[in-house]
Formats: sequence, structure tokens, C-alpha cells
Amino acid sequence: MNAIGTISYVVLALLLCAAAVGLVLGLRVQWRRIAAGQPAPGQSGAIAGLAARIHWPSFWTRGLLLSRLFKRPVAGLAHALLFFGALVAIAGHALYALTFLGIEVYEGAFGFIVMELARELAGLAMLAGAAFLFVRRLWPPERLTVGQERRGFAPMEALLLAIIVLGFAAEIFRLAQPDAVSRGEFLGLALGGALNGLEAATLAAGQSVLWWLHGLLGLAFIVLIPRTPMSHMILGPLNTALARRRAGITLPLIDFEAPAADGAEPPLGAEKLADLPRKNLLDAAACLWCGRCHEACPAAQTGKALSPKKVMLTCAAYLEQGRTQDAALIDELGAEAIFNCTTCAACVEQCPVTNNPAETILHFRRQFVMGRSEMPEVMALANRNLEARGHPFAGTAANRDDWRRGLEVPLYEAGRTEYLLWIGCAVAFEERAQQVARAMARILDAAGVSWGILEESRCTGDPARMMGNELLFVELAQANIEDFRERGISKVITMCAHCFNSFDRYYPELGASWETIPHGVLIERLIREGRLAPVRDPARRITFHDPCYLARHNGIVRETRGVVAAVGELVEMPRHGRDSFCCGAGGGNYWSREGGTARISDTRLDEALATGADQVATSCPFCLLMLTSSAAGRGGERKVFDLAELVVAALPPADATASNHSH
Ligand code: SF4
Ligand code: SF4
Repeated sequence: MNAIGTISYVVLALLLCAAAVGLVLGLRVQWRRIAAGQPAPGQSGAIAGLAARIHWPSFWTRGLLLSRLFKRPVAGLAHALLFFGALVAIAGHALYALTFLGIEVYEGAFGFIVMELARELAGLAMLAGAAFLFVRRLWPPERLTVGQERRGFAPMEALLLAIIVLGFAAEIFRLAQPDAVSRGEFLGLALGGALNGLEAATLAAGQSVLWWLHGLLGLAFIVLIPRTPMSHMILGPLNTALARRRAGITLPLIDFEAPAADGAEPPLGAEKLADLPRKNLLDAAACLWCGRCHEACPAAQTGKALSPKKVMLTCAAYLEQGRTQDAALIDELGAEAIFNCTTCAACVEQCPVTNNPAETILHFRRQFVMGRSEMPEVMALANRNLEARGHPFAGTAANRDDWRRGLEVPLYEAGRTEYLLWIGCAVAFEERAQQVARAMARILDAAGVSWGILEESRCTGDPARMMGNELLFVELAQANIEDFRERGISKVITMCAHCFNSFDRYYPELGASWETIPHGVLIERLIREGRLAPVRDPARRITFHDPCYLARHNGIVRETRGVVAAVGELVEMPRHGRDSFCCGAGGGNYWSREGGTARISDTRLDEALATGADQVATSCPFCLLMLTSSAAGRGGERKVFDLAELVVAALPPADATASNHSH
């Protein structure tokens, strides 16, 4: 390389350092805004403990391998071409710097394959990816514009395209020169021929100008990253690395007794950004406003006030404006939207940068309920009933023992009974769901399981927590933990996905140590072990509605399908497993009955019936009740069943009646 070339590279290297400083300063501004939020428990320092919180599996798969993006294959491919192309291009530039140390990186097979061919292909990959993303901004799909479109993407994508094109143009001018040597830069070699008529000096000057433009625009891009939506290139993987280890929603407990670090009371939920945990603020900063959450959200898709995208973009706008202390935020989001959330976590499952809009929403809900005593009247009624009677089914004439009329049901005996069969409130107080408990009693007896129930029980507190009443949840949970401890309970069977989630996810934080198993998982195990032998009818087509709190929140997908497959032919709905669509009951919305808009459960039932299945199975009483009520509105046909009911119906007559306890 001649002296001018060397000087050019030295100047460029210095400018690169300056751009890196610009990048860091921009990120510092972002961090200062995020630091206005609440530190994670035990962390008062700015980034104390950050490394310990990194969740490497999600960082590798979602952050670097972009796995979530491939839920939309074309957009995923475009991002992958751009991202991996950029990695190769950056590595190529870094390797080129070795030539200043006298290392010849362009020689031999390495030079041909890595420095020429791979970099050429990487450039083309970046060109294709950037072109797709730019064109998509010109004709955006609805999800990008719903609520509001994030400005700044299109100019940055245009800038990126210009950088790539200028890089190729500089290469073409270089390879058109008489002394140029290259074996692998096929595009430059092919197009360089078009410049054959130009003088060598003109070609050299053209190459120099284009090279500088390519370099300077590249540096400008780096400086602009933290100041434009391109910040997602850094904040996205960072956010993904800091994702919770457990899928779904994990609301932090509020320690009502411990004052915050500055001696102030801990916030009862959030009314402004500064009340939210820092992770939620990072979510807002990383949000692309891509609208994938909006498309997946059952509330948004049935015309309700809630759109998780709008929640996130409103938080993002406040954050960008530095309005972290502005309590107008909660009113701008609005109570109606905040209470529409069914806590289904579909938004969480879809988000490409691992945001958790549902948790942010629930922080605001807590403030409405505990800070302002404001909630929809039907939910307030359910809460009052929980406080007074230990269950949320206000106005029911049923009592906890109704389900076992005519059955001799054993009580749990410490030291003698293996499993506690937990009778959740929905199973106890809703007539249709009582059939699930009756079926389960038969199954446990038929399989010879040692089981019993509690003579008296109360709600797990899950509805209180998801409706925002954390105080009541803690009260109910602690009372249950105390009871279980006194009775020496170590294994619990739940028939409700919400009871399971509460026991398994939240109770251990309050001191519980028992093992909880959802009834669908236990039934599958009993079938696998040969303790239950239902007769399979291959002509019976059954579709399975995954309860959000089993599939999405807890990854229970295979076992429930195992049960369906043991009794009939499984037919999948388009949205199933972790991508299941909510029944509409969660987050206290079972009681709200979705006045005024399309019912979420109707949408789901239509999807189930469109499969042509003879029966719709599920594994949570709330899903059962919601889908059953939608089925009733469509002719009253009895099509919706719990897994336990299907299994009992498929047991050979001797087994189905072999209960030691049934009359
Ligand atoms: S929260 Fe996630 S899915 Fe929703 S708009 Fe933001 S980036 Fe997209
Ligand atoms: S949890 Fe479900 S209902 Fe709530 S915002 Fe997310 S997708 Fe919508």
C-alpha cells in the first residue's frame, strides 16, 4: 500500500475511534433515562450484578441467532442476511488491518475464500436484506403503522443501502484498474469491465472518493445508532440477554414491609415510568413498534381498547422525552386498556426483542387497584368476594362440596396420602367445571393413585394478583402455605392452569416447597406407565386448545397432546402450542364478560370448529367455561371437554366405574 493509502487508513481509524465515542455517549443518554426506573431487588448500583443476570441461552438463540424473528420467515431472513452479512463484512475489515503488520491476508485459499469470496457474498446479502427492509418501510404492513409508525427507520435503512452500494462502487473502480488482482470478488470483476474506457488516474480518483464516502457514511451510521431506532441493534440483544429465565409473566413480589433504598414506600405498581423496574424501561427503549404484539393480542384483535404496541410506544415516547416522573402516563394509557389485558403472554411470546408488555401493563394495573382503588365493577365484586368468602365467584349459590355429591371422596391425610387433589374455585363453583373434578376423581381411582382433598380450602389468590390486588394475593397465599405446611403436603395435583402457575411460580417466593403437577401432565404419565388404558378411537377427531398458562407460561405442550392422542386423532388449530390464542378469561376478564366487543372466546371457538374436529379439548376450567359458553351461543352443541372427561369416557367400563369411592 502506498503512503496515501496508509494515511487514509490511519485517518479513518482515528475517525472510527471518534465514532465509537459518539456511540458510547449516545448509549449513555439511553442508560441515564433507563436508570430512572426501579433497580432489581438487591441492586442499588447502576449496572451492578448485570453480568450475573444474563440469560445466556436466550441471548444466543434470540439475541444473536434471531430465532424469534423467524416467526415471520421473510422478515427473519432479511434481518439474518443483514446481520450475518454485517458480521462477515466487519470481520473482513478487521482482518484487513493485519496487512499493516505485514501479514498477507489476501494470499492463498484464505485470501480467496474469506477475504474475497465471503466478503463479496456478505455484501450482497446485506444489500438484499437492507433493500427488503427499506422497501417494506415504503409500503408497510398494518402492524407497523397501527397506533403510530416509528419514524427514523426508513432514513437509516436508506443510509445503510447507500453505504453498501458505495462499497461495491469503490470495489468496481478498484478492480477496473489495470494492476488490480482479485479472484473472488465476482461482482466487482464483472461490473469493472463497464469502466474499461476510463483512464487509470480517473479510476483511482473515483475509487478514492467512493471509498471515503463509504467510510464516512459508515462512521455516521455508527454515531446515529443510539440516536435513532437503530439502537435496537444494541438494545435488542441486551434486552434479550436480560430476559427472565422463565417464560410468560413473572410479576415481582411487592415487599410491603421493606422501605425502598431512599426510605420511601415501595411503589404500589406504576403510574409513571420511574415506578417501573429498569428492565421495563429497557423494554420501552428497545421496542421497535413492530406491532407483532398487537397482531397476537386477543384484546387488540377483538377490538378492545388495549393494544400492547400502543402501551409500549407511549412508554417509549415518554422515555425519549425524559418524562420519567410524569404521572400523566397512566391516564394516557387509560384504565380500560389496562384492564383489558388477559395476561395471556401472547405479546411476550411474539416480541422479537424479548419485551414483556404484559408485565408493564400489570404494573399499571396494580397502581389503578392499590394506589387509586379503581377497577371495573365486576372485578371489584370478584375481589370483594375473595376477601369475604375466599373465592371470586360472587353471587353463586354453589358451595365447595357440590362437585362431590354422590362420590365418596377421601380427605388428605398427612403421612398416608401421596397427592393432594386441589379443587380450585372455578372447578368448585361453576357447575360445568365440577364435571372435571368428578372425572379426575375417577381417573385417580382407576389408576390406583393415593389422593385426597382438603375439607376446606380457599382460592390460591391468582385472580387477585392478576387483577392487580397484590395485597390480597399475598394474604391468601400465605394462609394457604401455612395450611399446607401444617398438613405436611408435598405433592399437589391442579386442574386449573392458573392454580398451577401460582403454586409453581409464585408460591415458592413466599416459602412454599411442594411439588405441583397439572392434571393433564399426570394423566399423560399414568397412561405412559400403563396405569390407565383408555381405548383410542381413531375416527374421533379432537382439536386441543392450549391454555395460555400451561403452554405459553409454562411450556407444557407435549404432555397434553399425549393425552389427546391416547383417546383420538389430534387435529391442530393454526394457532397452537406456545402460539395458542387466549380464551379471554385471564387477568380477571372471566368476570368482565367483554361487554360491547367481539368475544375472544368466540374467535377461538370458531378457529377450533374450523378444523372440522368432532370435539374441542382443553385443560383448564376457565378455558372450558369460556369455550363452552361460546359453543352454547352457536347451537348449544356439547363439543368442549376437559382432558379428564375425554379420558374417563374412553376408559374400559370396568376402569371407568372401578372407583373405590364412587357410588
Ligand atoms: S413490544 Fe415487541 S412486539 Fe410489541 S411493538 Fe415492541 S418490539 Fe414489537
Ligand atoms: S398479555 Fe395477552 S391480552 Fe395482555 S397485552 Fe399481551 S397479548 Fe394482549
